[in-house]
Amino acid sequence: AVPVIAIDGPGGSGKGTIGLMVAKALKFHFLDSGALYRLVALAAKHHGISTDNEEALTVLAGHMDIAFGAGKHGEPRVYLEGEDVSNDIRTDEVSQMASQVAASGSVREALLARQRDFRREPGLVADGRDMGTIVFPEAEVKIFLTASAEKRAERRFKQLQGMGESASIGDLLTSIRSRDERDRNRSVAPLRPADDAIEVDSSELNIEQVLESVLQVVRD
Ligand code: C5P
Repeated sequence: AVPVIAIDGPGGSGKGTIGLMVAKALKFHFLDSGALYRLVALAAKHHGISTDNEEALTVLAGHMDIAFGAGKHGEPRVYLEGEDVSNDIRTDEVSQMASQVAASGSVREALLARQRDFRREPGLVADGRDMGTIVFPEAEVKIFLTASAEKRAERRFKQLQGMGESASIGDLLTSIRSRDERDRNRSVAPLRPADDAIEVDSSELNIEQVLESVLQVVRD
């Protein structure tokens, strides 16, 4: 079977950055599952569909025209109906919408096959909330990456700054907390570590240290 490394955790824990680095180090494919929920949210926004219209959201999740590619410097790019929406899916508005969309069981169901399609030779690093619990329960390696809400808000702030967007740390913290709460308390696929996941707290670690601890788990 094609090996899978599942990296789950709350938003801003660094799983995206770390997941990409692990994938690069092992020459594995990479799945950013959060981008799929963000794409459903953005597509809904474009089509004027409300985040509580579960039926329409589920159709979007199953049929939206999306593609994943790489930019000039090998950075991941995300396309919706042929348009590069890599930055549009990261706004705070779309982040909140994504976590509302993700509370729907039928949307999650519609995205399952799309996620499992990423599992190709020689292997996959999958990043999200339920990679180790639901999408790839048989994954060889499961990491649950956490960090304090304050650290995560700070990281999101820097990420937004890098995209030329202004934001306030206080607003980001409020937004991260509300997303955490929704992701942890929803009835379908609530955010929690798989029983066999190894937890890594990245609050006091830099990227190299987190990468090293994750690669150490992979080697073991
Ligand atoms: O990881 P990211 O912040 O991009 O995810 C956006 C939203 O998508 C999360 O807040 C969460 O509600 C949802 N999500 C999910 N399951 C995943 C990945 C993301 O429910 N595997």
